[in-house]
Formats: sequence, C-alpha cells, structure tokens
Amino acid sequence: MATLMDGRALAKTIRSEVLEHAGQLRRRGVTPGLAVVLVGDDPASAVYVRNKEKDCAECGIHSTVHRLPADITQDGLLVLLSRLNADPAVHGILVQQPLPERLDPFSVICAVDPKKDVDALHPENVGLISLDRPYFLPCTPAGVMALLEHYGIDPKGRHCVIIGRSHIVGKPMAQLMLARHATVTVCHSKTPDLGALTRQADILVSAAGKPGLVTGDMVRFGAVVVDVGINKNPDGKLAGDVVFAEAEPAAAYITPVPGGVGPMTRAILMKNTITAAVEATV
Ligand code: NAD
Repeated sequence: MATLMDGRALAKTIRSEVLEHAGQLRRRGVTPGLAVVLVGDDPASAVYVRNKEKDCAECGIHSTVHRLPADITQDGLLVLLSRLNADPAVHGILVQQPLPERLDPFSVICAVDPKKDVDALHPENVGLISLDRPYFLPCTPAGVMALLEHYGIDPKGRHCVIIGRSHIVGKPMAQLMLARHATVTVCHSKTPDLGALTRQADILVSAAGKPGLVTGDMVRFGAVVVDVGINKNPDGKLAGDVVFAEAEPAAAYITPVPGGVGPMTRAILMKNTITAAVEATV
C-alpha cells in the first residue's frame, strides 16, 4: 500500500511558520500585504481568491482583493497594476488566471513589478528560475518539491516524468527537478505513447488537467505519483488526473486530490509574500 503524501497537513505547518515570520515583520513595523486582482465572475476563480483571503488571514498577511468587471479594458487593468506596484503597503501582487480572452495575459504578467510577482510568472522571475536562482518559488512546483522533501524523497539520479508543459506547472516543475539532479522527461498532448514513458518514471508528476489520464498500468511498481490535476467530475466532485484506486496499489507514495498539491500551492504563495515583504524592507 502506498504512503499518502498529506499536503493538507504539511501546508498547515508551513502556514504556521509563515504566521510566525509575519509576526516578526509586524514587530519591525511591517505588515506583509498581498493584493489579488480578480477580473470577471468565473466561479472557480472566485473560490480560489476566497481561499487566498482565508490563507492570508490565517498567516497574518493583510490581503486586498480588487474585483474588476469582465469588460475592464487592458489599459484599465494596467493602470491598477501600476498603482499596486507603487504602493509600499503591497508586497505581493497576484492576478488570478485565467483572464477573459480579450485581455493579453503576457502583457499583464509583464506589468507586475518582478519584486512583487509572487506567482513567479514575470519573464525576469522565469529566467531566474531557469538559472537556478529563483527570487520567488514557482508555487505549484515548489509545493511538489516541499512534499517530496518532507517524505524523504530525493529526486537526485531518479527519472522524473512530467505530464504537461505549461508555464505555470510543467516547465518550472522540470526546472526544479533538474536543479535537484533528476533526469527529466516532459510529456505533453502531442507525445505519442504516453504510457511507455510514464512506466519508466521513478517520480511521475501529472499536470494535464485530464481526469482519468493516468491509469494503473501507466505506473511503475514502487513509483512516486504526484497528481497536480484539479478536475471536476460530472458529479461535481474534485478529481486529479490519476485514477487513484488503480495507481495506489502500484505506487510507493501518492498524493490525494483534494488534499495533496493544492494546499501546498497555496502555502508557497504565502511564503512568497513573506519573501517579498522581507526583501522590501532590506
Ligand atoms: P494547461 O492546460 O496550461 O496545461 C496542460 C498541459 O497538459 C499541456 O502542456 C498539455 O500539452 C498537457 N496535456 C493535456 N492533455 C494531455 C494528454 N492527453 N497527454 C499528455 N499531455 C497532455 O494546464 P495547467 O495550468 O498546467 O494545469 C494543469 C492541471 O493542473 C489542471 O487540472 C489545473 O487545474 C491543475 N493545477 C493544479 C494546481 C494545484 O495547486 N494543484 C495548480 C495549477 C494547476
């Protein structure tokens, strides 16, 4: 039977460390602040933003949410971002994705001050991550690495197979794994015979957003299986990419969905906000 990697419990520990750190900053007269920008009324995004507000409250971080109408212009959004960039009470800025299609996500990301870009998506931060000198940690991949470390899993010399090549998960995941001396294979929607590759994985990270993609026969016996996917089943329940009941008997370690990578992503965002506040004061 696989060991369940409990992201909920580890995230709670990280949040209590962040709270302590925020307390130290407050005693020096600095209240760490996170500004979240939410455009439109996508219900999933609204839930993610509410969770961030909740996390901030628990971590002693002041949060402000800027809710903008779906028909906001690109210029209107950029004006708000430049105001937040200039506000010394705001240490971290996060623009909730996805943005309405009319808006250009790349220029929005570029408009955030890299020193406040707690999502680590600005080209400057992406470059630093790829040079193994991250200023901010990429939230989801760093959450995965923290989980592995907590369970004593060292990627060094292991074959890590990643499903997904997005800017937010797959690519930075590959960078962090390489930095920890894993041998990395990145698969994507055009990869033929996915199973032939996943069966070679010592560490399998799935971030495709496709429920049921990873079946039991795609998991090597004794592998570490990390399910980043968050999908909604027709019954409204959350599911990952991995068929848990099939993969779990083969795996040595596995993350549940929910309760695995999701809470870790949120906890790393809190950590990044503290980093931004500390750096702003030195
Ligand atoms: P994305 O749509 O930007 O990227 C998905 C990637 O998966 C693409 O590179 C695509 O090529 C690949 N892919 C899709 N179908 C595939 C297939 N059949 N075979 C192989 N590769 C395939 O998505 P994203 O933003 O990277 O998110 C991926 C998933 O992770 C989603 O379910 C998302 O909700 C979830 N997510 C979870 C967290 C978390 O904290 N747990 C954070 C971010 C994203």
